[in-house]
Amino acid sequence: MQCNPLGVFIEKQHGGFGGEVDECLSMLEVSSYESLPLSLMMGINGALFIQPVTRYAEKHVTAEIMERFNRDQAMGGLMITEPGYGSDALHMQTSYRNENKGYHISGIKHWAGLTGWADYWLLTARKRKDDGGLARDIDFFIHDTRNEGVEVEEYFDNLGLYMLPYGRNRIDAHVPESYRLQPASTGIKMMLDMLHRSRLQFPGMAMGFLRRIMDDSLRHVKTRNVGGKSLFQYDQVKERIVRIQSWFTSCSAMCRYTSEHAAITRDLSLEDVSANSIKSVVTDMMQDAAQSFLQLVGANGYRLDHMAGKGVIDSRPFQIFEGSNDILYQQITESVQKKMRKSGLTNLYDYLSSSELTSQASEYIKKYTNFSMDQNLSQRKQVILGKMLGYTVSMNMVIQLGERGFHSQLIHNTLEVLTSDIRNLMEKVHHTKDIPPTESVDQDGNWFGFVNA
Ligand SMILES: Cc1cc2nc3c(=O)[nH]c(=O)nc-3n(C[C@H](O)[C@H](O)[C@H](O)COP(=O)(O)OP(=O)(O)OC[C@H]3O[C@@H](n4cnc5c(N)ncnc54)[C@H](O)[C@@H]3O)c2cc1C
Repeated sequence: MQCNPLGVFIEKQHGGFGGEVDECLSMLEVSSYESLPLSLMMGINGALFIQPVTRYAEKHVTAEIMERFNRDQAMGGLMITEPGYGSDALHMQTSYRNENKGYHISGIKHWAGLTGWADYWLLTARKRKDDGGLARDIDFFIHDTRNEGVEVEEYFDNLGLYMLPYGRNRIDAHVPESYRLQPASTGIKMMLDMLHRSRLQFPGMAMGFLRRIMDDSLRHVKTRNVGGKSLFQYDQVKERIVRIQSWFTSCSAMCRYTSEHAAITRDLSLEDVSANSIKSVVTDMMQDAAQSFLQLVGANGYRLDHMAGKGVIDSRPFQIFEGSNDILYQQITESVQKKMRKSGLTNLYDYLSSSELTSQASEYIKKYTNFSMDQNLSQRKQVILGKMLGYTVSMNMVIQLGERGFHSQLIHNTLEVLTSDIRNLMEKVHHTKDIPPTESVDQDGNWFGFVNA
């Protein structure tokens, strides 16, 4: 922390390095090459605290807080999730009332990164109305932990990400009037802007992680001899390395895209398709790369002091937090379906070729997408289609990175891999049946009773 890494998120007028997005992503990449939890710690501070405060707090409050970040290496996190309300965060029960020239906030929050460590929290709550009910909108408040009111009731035993503390907090805090964030319109729109900005910056954390896996797995397969030849000579090993390199290339393309589209001055509340695609696709790629790395390393990768197994565990929650990937994929499909209805298009290829996010990629996948879209897909089909759309958005970014002169073989291979995966996903959309699960499995489900003695 001595070189003030969080300064990349802070504007020059507040003593930072300027808040340029490409520099933020580059710092996250350097961190995650060494340690994914370290990078997540930087990402939480930057995307879930400094950037929201920079955009929505009163100027004198931002100045005061950023001074502490620069001078004392202060840290900040975000509390949204509650025990009963995770994916369904809009129905959170933490509430606030106006009180003594400020607000009194009460409720329970859990799983906030930096629990017990943060100097500042962004607390989310709904207004308690005069009739006792809760308002629909969500408001954000900055809490300075030098004041009481956020008490850790329990620290959780995390499966991974050991560096980061998590737990359950009881909130019973007073926040001064000026410490409430000021949305341009509604609080929910402000929350979407924050979450989309954060999701768009996931590739920064993914970048170093994927680069490290690519470097280490290539070195491993070139030096490990099995059956008289190096692992690199085996076709299945090559397949795994090609996929790891393709995820590295896709993530690089996303970093380029985010750097040019997510400036702190831009409102990103409507950027759901790009943000949700980037977050869900890149986190699936992180997990897939980690699984392949562990497979290639063999038993040694299962040692706790080896990065391969740890990478599987540490990257897994990225598919869950800030929007569960299952839900984000469904939302991508819903958003595209809505845009198609609005523009009167029924053919998926026609839509993809007309959208800025997919037009270049659409030519590669025309024969798989040239059909009329069913507007009443089951949720499971929406999820598969959403993944396919996310891959198409990523592919478009890869094409654009290639046009800038990025490593041509990596670009070529990645486009081949993505085209093939998109084709497989489309097949799956067409052939998936809405099979209902069995609700209870009793005696008839015990194989032992069916053995002929
Ligand atoms: C390591 C880690 C770090 C975190 N950091 C933070 C943080 O800094 N701040 C914070 O506020 N929170 C944080 N969280 C919490 C995280 O955002 C929530 O766990 C997440 O939103 C999911 O909520 P939940 O755990 O209550 O799961 P649930 O809402 O119970 O969902 C569980 C699963 O059910 C399925 N599901 C849920 N709803 C639907 C649906 N509509 N359709 C289909 N399937 C559905 C999905 O598979 C989903 O993954 C963190 C969590 C972890 C694990």
